[in-house]
Order: sequence, then structure tokens, then C-alpha cells
Amino acid sequence: MSLKNIEQNINVYDFALYLKCPRKVYYLKRSEIIRPNDNVSFVEHLFLKELGIRYPRLLENFSSKADDMKNKIQSVFNEISNELPTIYSSEIESVSESTISQALNNVQACVKDITSNMMEMLTNAHNLPLLQALCSMEIEPLLYGPKMKISGIPAGMIKLEGIPTPVIVKTGKFPEYGIWSDDRLHLAVFTMIAQEVYNTPIDNGIVIYSRSGNIRSAKIRANDRRQVLAIWSHIKKINDGFLPERKQIPMCHDCEFLQICDVKSSLASKFF
Ligand code: SF4
Repeated sequence: MSLKNIEQNINVYDFALYLKCPRKVYYLKRSEIIRPNDNVSFVEHLFLKELGIRYPRLLENFSSKADDMKNKIQSVFNEISNELPTIYSSEIESVSESTISQALNNVQACVKDITSNMMEMLTNAHNLPLLQALCSMEIEPLLYGPKMKISGIPAGMIKLEGIPTPVIVKTGKFPEYGIWSDDRLHLAVFTMIAQEVYNTPIDNGIVIYSRSGNIRSAKIRANDRRQVLAIWSHIKKINDGFLPERKQIPMCHDCEFLQICDVKSSLASKFF
């Protein structure tokens, strides 16, 4: 494929992919994608992403009764089960009914934990400003930073104490404290783009861990931005044709690019 066909602007999705494995960026840019078509964890991810985006709705009309909260979560869960094939029609086009049903069962098993963690968060007065800000979250705004030439769509933007603050949704496990380091970098990119868009310094971001019902606030530091800039340069190199060294990492066995990645020798990178 001609390099001329490759989009020169960088998307935040490239960063998220790079953090998983730099080679995935290379393959995706060259449309060498094979969709995970019948994969339970992929459907779970889509469902939990959708659930995370709807968390602000769960926070509205807060009731201190756990049963009320559980019913509310269950009703949003049912709503997503019905809407998922419409919202993600191309993504789950070739997914079997049994895969979808297994994914829904897996997510259903999380409802108890989500209820208890959300109740804990809602009853802590310290969280009130964040919860209020989340109730008026702008869903999936398109952001573009012309200086860095990066575009991206966070799960949402809120105004936290008057400052525009990006919100991302993560569908994996949550850390005991704070947020995972990769999530911090993902969030840092959005704060850097948002700074350009809103023309104001932005030091905070929010991560919704939708599988467990945890919402964490994180302060973005100078070193996070430094690392984002280093990754940005590396992604530009990959877009220009550099094939990163192959890593043998746990996610390889479940990777959509495994076949082509196995075939392509890491020597290929020496041609660039
Ligand atoms: S197979 Fe492994 S090294 Fe290759 S792209 Fe996938 S995750 Fe990366």
C-alpha cells in the first residue's frame, strides 16, 4: 500500500493502540486489519464502553437506596442489550448470537459490584462536585488540536469547577488506587488536545472504570505530557513506514494481527 494513502494526522486511537503494542499502529494504518468477529471479550468491551457513557444518567436522581440503584443499572443494562446491535452494527455484524449472549452474561455478573461501588462513591460528600459535573457531560465531542495535528473523541467532556475536563471509559480491571499508567497517558493526550481547543491549561482528567463502577480523577503531570510527545514522534515514524520490533506479549495470542505479524520478520524494520 502506498504511503501516500496513509492519513498523516494522528488520532488519539493511535495512542491507545500504541500503548497496547506499537506494531498494531503499523498494521492498522495499512488497513491490514482482521476484525475480531466472534470474540466474547470484544463484545463485552463494546457493552461496557456503552455502559460507561451512560454512567452520568445513573447519577441523576440519586437515591440512597441500593435496590433503587441496582434497578436503575439493570434497566440501563437492558436498554444497551437491545440497542447494541443498532449502535455497533458493523462491529458486531458477524458475531454469533451465542457470543453476544455469553458476553451479556459476563457483564450481568458485574452489576452487583457496580451497584456497590457506585453507592459508595455517591455517599461520599467529597465526590459531589465531580458527580454534579458528570450529570451534564457532553457525550463524545470531536476534539482537534491543530498544533499537534491530533484528533480524538473522548467519552465526554465535563466542566469541573469551571475547567473543561476530558472523561474516558475503560472496560478492564481497575487499580486499587488512582488510575493505570497507560490510562494516564491516554488521558494526557486528551487534556493536551483540549488545552488547544479551549485555550486554557487543563491538568485533570477522569477515568470511568465501567466494569466495576469506579470513577477516578487524575492529575496530569509534566512527565505525562513529555511521554505523550515522545510517543507522538514515534507514531509519526511508524506512519512514515517504520515497523517496530515484534514483542512477545500476553495479548499476542488474541491479537487480530497475529497471522501477519508472525510472518513479517522484524528484519523488515531495517528497510526503513
Ligand atoms: S501479534 Fe503481538 S506483536 Fe504482533 S501486533 Fe499483535 S500484539 Fe503486537
